[in-house]
Amino acid sequence: MLYDLIIIGAGPAGLTAGIYASTRKLKTLIIDATEAGGQLASLYPEKGIDNYPGYVMTDAGHLAGNLVNHAKSMSCELHEREKAIELKDKSGHLLLVTDKTSYETKAVIIATGMGLFTPKRIGAPGELEFEGKGVYYKLPDRETLEGKKVMFVGGGNSALEMALLVCEQAETCLVHRRESYRADEVIVERVQGSNIEQIMSSQVVEIKGTDHVTSVVIKTDGKLEERPIDAIVVNIGTASEPLEMEGWGVDLEEGLIKVDTDMCTSRRGVFACGDVIAYKGKYKQIVVACGEAAIASNSAYKYIKEPYWAK
Ligand code: NAP
Repeated sequence: MLYDLIIIGAGPAGLTAGIYASTRKLKTLIIDATEAGGQLASLYPEKGIDNYPGYVMTDAGHLAGNLVNHAKSMSCELHEREKAIELKDKSGHLLLVTDKTSYETKAVIIATGMGLFTPKRIGAPGELEFEGKGVYYKLPDRETLEGKKVMFVGGGNSALEMALLVCEQAETCLVHRRESYRADEVIVERVQGSNIEQIMSSQVVEIKGTDHVTSVVIKTDGKLEERPIDAIVVNIGTASEPLEMEGWGVDLEEGLIKVDTDMCTSRRGVFACGDVIAYKGKYKQIVVACGEAAIASNSAYKYIKEPYWAK
């Protein structure tokens, strides 16, 4: 079977590229090494999103689900848990080799995002010992936090948004190592208007407990303070595993794929979009990834069909 287009990665960029390809009736396959939905579904499904146009407020899991359903309803074929490994040339077409089989296609869009993520750790004693027993990197089931003392760590959007999600049902505090936050002003404003206790210019230096976390030691201006805590949720960023790019045969810039304004890579028939690409002014937002995906899909269409209006 010969596909018109194969999209590697089923996050917002890959799914949007698939939706646009379907409006052009391209025979399209989207494959993903894990589950469809990308960072939205895997990293923070409960997180509120208030900057995706058309939704005053939605959550990441809902948006991811909608994107997946939209792509499927447009007849995109979707293969989950299949890892793309290498892109070869085959008689004027491309051959995508995966860990299960290989597929021949006229064009490819790479939309693999930032790769697989691992949460960054604080590095404090007790952190590893109590992981899953009071130390979390994703928000645990909110019901389990009801009435508990919960500490969030970090000053970015993720930490502040997570804290806002539970502050109504748990005694919530937020520890950040600086005097001001990195998060968007609108989110900071919500935190400041909430009942979240904000502990600024402070670092977590030790996590203590028995079979579960019971307290956390923080350091502020050189002074140590031990606070009784039931759960600590760490959101200090993520480290992505180095992206495996060798197999694509495209030019890179600081480890990401170089594209021109048409989302064309250095390799004929191969396009890219989303967090895996680099260009001056790149802004890592869902809506930007979706915009790039529409361009990549249109460029792939022009490459495959050579319509009269694109000559
Ligand atoms: P982030 O923006 O990188 O913030 C990480 C926070 O953790 C920073 O405040 C940082 O402090 C702090 N930190 C880092 N290492 C630390 C350490 N060892 N000890 C204590 N604190 C430490 O990460 P994020 O919040 O996960 O967000 C990641 C990206 O996704 C960002 O681009 C963000 O804008 C985006 N995002 C967007 C939305 C949205 O648009 N609604 C929601 C979530 C995430 P410093 O500030 O001192 O460096």
